[in-house]
Amino acid sequence: MMLFRYVCLLGLIGAGTAWAQDYVPGEVIVRLKSQVGSQASYAFLGKAHSQKEMNLKRSWGKLNMHHFQVKPGQSVEQAVAELKSDPDVLYAEPNYIFRKSTDFEAERVYNRDQVMAIAQGDPTAAYETQIGLAEVYQSMQSFSGDYRPIVAIIDTGLDVNHPVFVDSNALWINEDEIAGNGIDDDGNGYVDDVNGYNFAYNSSNVWDDDGHGTHVAGIVLKVGLDIMEDPIDQSAIRIMALKFLDGSGMGTTSDAIEAIYYALNNGAVVLNNSWGGPSYSAALLDAVVATYDRGATFVAAAGNSATNNDAQPMYPATYNVPHVLSIAATTNLDYLAYFSNFGVGTVHVGSPGLNVLSTYPGGTWTQMSGTSMAAPFVSGIAALMKASAPEMLGYQVKSIIDAEADPVSHLINKVMTEARVNASASIIAAGGAAIETSQPAYDPSYMSRELASELTDGGGGCGLVSKLYQEFNNGQGRGGPPPLGRGLETWYILVILALFALPIALRTWLRSRDPVNRRRHPRYDIQTAVTMNLDGRKLVGEVSSISLGGVRIDTNAWLDQGGVVNMTITSPDGKDQVQVEGKVVWSEAQKSYGVAFDEEKTGPLALSAISKWTKGLKKAS
Ligand code: CA
Repeated sequence: MMLFRYVCLLGLIGAGTAWAQDYVPGEVIVRLKSQVGSQASYAFLGKAHSQKEMNLKRSWGKLNMHHFQVKPGQSVEQAVAELKSDPDVLYAEPNYIFRKSTDFEAERVYNRDQVMAIAQGDPTAAYETQIGLAEVYQSMQSFSGDYRPIVAIIDTGLDVNHPVFVDSNALWINEDEIAGNGIDDDGNGYVDDVNGYNFAYNSSNVWDDDGHGTHVAGIVLKVGLDIMEDPIDQSAIRIMALKFLDGSGMGTTSDAIEAIYYALNNGAVVLNNSWGGPSYSAALLDAVVATYDRGATFVAAAGNSATNNDAQPMYPATYNVPHVLSIAATTNLDYLAYFSNFGVGTVHVGSPGLNVLSTYPGGTWTQMSGTSMAAPFVSGIAALMKASAPEMLGYQVKSIIDAEADPVSHLINKVMTEARVNASASIIAAGGAAIETSQPAYDPSYMSRELASELTDGGGGCGLVSKLYQEFNNGQGRGGPPPLGRGLETWYILVILALFALPIALRTWLRSRDPVNRRRHPRYDIQTAVTMNLDGRKLVGEVSSISLGGVRIDTNAWLDQGGVVNMTITSPDGKDQVQVEGKVVWSEAQKSYGVAFDEEKTGPLALSAISKWTKGLKKAS
């Protein structure tokens, strides 16, 4: 057991570069436990300024969350470690850098005449048939809603002079702001923010110096109107340009959070996020949860590394909040695109993403590939659903998109719904659906969210190690293993090992005291869902009792005794998930099965989550 932990840690050190993610040098994001405006809060900010020599860059008041420049000469990992030991700090993390999620961007750009000539033979035309856009265009002719939902394009900016956006009257306009007078007329904290804002350069100029955001915005619009048509119709939705990615498609967590809050506070109901990164940010999750609480839909690109997000999460797509749609990219023949990330537990649905033709800065058009292109089709669908059902909450929009997607054989074992989106079916279903007036509360307990996220992060118990490792490794610069044997690092590793060794040592000790009770953990009655992966087959069942040693599963599927099962068990309240591996140890009438957890692969975090779930449950007889 102990050996396993060492092996796990050493394995990660070997794979150092694979875990590294960039962050802004010298910057941290901190959330305090205390209430904003409280004495404790003021005391912390005073101390940060005078003792820690930290320079406050900005604050998100309601959350008591702050963005700091750390003391000159101090590394980010030193600052994070120091802050985490402060009793008033809920979390402290680096200001991570995220990237746009394109895989390929064509060099050739087309003008209007050229694009009209190639449009018919373009794969994009196939996508229109595939996801039912012709039907949508037809229904739009008789659409008379005066509510035009706003989609926030959180991206590299927008060519606001592109004829497609101008002629369709698609640009969101901040009516209370006077352009170019240098005054924050509406008092929302941003000067001259007429069509959105540029958080990357702190300017009202949202010009797209990359091209990605303009392409994404064109796709969102295209769901509801033919952007090749001349003259172009009025769009049924509006787009808000929020630039946080710079001219090379990179942006920071702090700017992303700023953009997300701007979107919320200025009326956006769908947020398109064609970007991501591998590092879990609690601060970004808090912003995503804020959009959930306000009933918005949060669409995110699953990523383009052709990897499984169940094992290697991509954020924000992998945040397990009920209104988040994580989108894989599919081809015109409904295959998963070669670059697309996937994950039956974390990626929800497929959407067209290979060689998509859309708008580009300078009033032109071009083709791009990526989950970046797949997500905005879904955002466009979500926005039109809101247009036909303005009261619908974001999480219901998400469930309808999932439910109305077309099953596609190539997506079996790739995405949760095993399906690719269908625009017309989703919009029709939204119009006829009974509106749910309340949504499940999302657990505000910060720890359980982090725990749930860690549990999906790679192999079992290695999750937290990888995160802690990554946090101090980040400070060592990218690439190469960190220098071991020096004071702080050695100490850090010993603490981590001790943390993991403690529950193991305790368990061993308890067992040695009572050999008869080996493997006899208290067992509780429970009723919760489990999905199982058995030699590539995906099965569903219900857990009817649970202990720290295993589960009783009721299922119609046939499980062989001795078979190894990968299980994803959902907590009784539906908020957390735990992934564990086990072996079928008994069966009853081929309906109920006993599955014992593989101790080597069941980390203390999984066990602590399970023991938390069983608090207050009735012990099984
Ligand atoms: Ca303003």
